[in-house]
Amino acid sequence: MSRTVYMDYAATTYVKPEVLSEMMPYFTEKYGNPSSFYSLSRETKKAIDVSRERVSKALKCEINEVFFTGGGSEADNWAIKGIAFANRKKGNHIITTKIEHHAILHACEYLETQGFDVTYLEVDSEGVINLEDFKNAITDKTILVSIMFANNEIGTIQPIKEIGEICSQNKVLFHTDGVQAIGNIEIDVKAMHIDLLSLSAHKFYGPKGIGALYIKRGVKIDNLIHGGGQERARRAGTENIPGIVGLGKAIELAVSDIEEKNKRLSSLRDKLVEGLLNIPYSKLNGPKDSKRLPGNANICFKFIEGESILLSLDFEGVCASSGSACTSGSLDPSHVLLAIGLPHEIAHGSLRLTLGESTTLEDVEYVIQVLPPIIKRLRDMSPLWEDFLKGEKK
Ligand SMILES: *Cc1c(COP(=O)(O)O)cnc(C)c1O
Repeated sequence: MSRTVYMDYAATTYVKPEVLSEMMPYFTEKYGNPSSFYSLSRETKKAIDVSRERVSKALKCEINEVFFTGGGSEADNWAIKGIAFANRKKGNHIITTKIEHHAILHACEYLETQGFDVTYLEVDSEGVINLEDFKNAITDKTILVSIMFANNEIGTIQPIKEIGEICSQNKVLFHTDGVQAIGNIEIDVKAMHIDLLSLSAHKFYGPKGIGALYIKRGVKIDNLIHGGGQERARRAGTENIPGIVGLGKAIELAVSDIEEKNKRLSSLRDKLVEGLLNIPYSKLNGPKDSKRLPGNANICFKFIEGESILLSLDFEGVCASSGSACTSGSLDPSHVLLAIGLPHEIAHGSLRLTLGESTTLEDVEYVIQVLPPIIKRLRDMSPLWEDFLKGEKK
């Protein structure tokens, strides 16, 4: 009776069979280098064009505004550093938030060592930035704003269109990390005044190690990799053709029927949250309403550690996450949970369960069944719980 219940879709997804089958020929018979001059290579060049067009349709931008990268972190780094260094003469101030992915935060921290000033905006208890605070943070030195579309840990969706309008009124460039948004939220980069957007295929049923950066035409940005003329000489290197083909197919599937998929996911998610909040001393982190990604549940259980919950869940075949996958392994509590105001000890006891297209009602019911005894057993071993009970009796 060993079953696997995967509830870590925000960390990564499997590759859909339709995506894989489009990729396969590009590993074997269709191997031409797209920069060469014979029909074998024209085939792969064509495949890149098709994929670029699919991405442009998904984002509602022009085809030549899409640049392929080696994933989401690479796209984020390129946006932050490429814009900062190319626009240095205009100013040295960057605005971001305290709840960004480390690919943004650590790139910004690096820029601080290179003479840039970075403002890290606070968020409220649901993880949303304050638009007035944001407006007030803009100075005549501000060159770039980078605010994530949707958060990978607590699922908070930011008011991206309003942020974009403020950026456009103040003539500062606006980048958004859209990695968690693709396939969950309708995106229109023009209507939303987005100048740059990062995405990553393995978060929407495509392969790992391939992503893209949308760069609005005319935006000044440094080239990422110097070398050949690939990606219009901005990101040199022979293209990852199977990856690019997979990304193109995956994004096409991801942006179709968003509404229907969201309805199903959020109803499963709500059942899961409702079931788990029956556990005493538990609390939902992040927003409760439509400001939240449909597949995201993040719950803290007081008096115990997220890591020990994960170990016990793994024993029951449940794949989940505490904080974000990038921070697990270290003992620092999640910077996102701290930013929404959770005290250290509570942030430590948080569990992230993220649902996706293959999640079933049975999966949800299974987790609701196996988790309560795990929490009880861990609390029975927890000195914090013991102290708490002693305090109750007094
Ligand atoms: C996963 C993720 C990234 C990093 O993408 P990779 O392709 O794994 O490098 C960046 N930002 C967010 C919000 C993510 O969820």
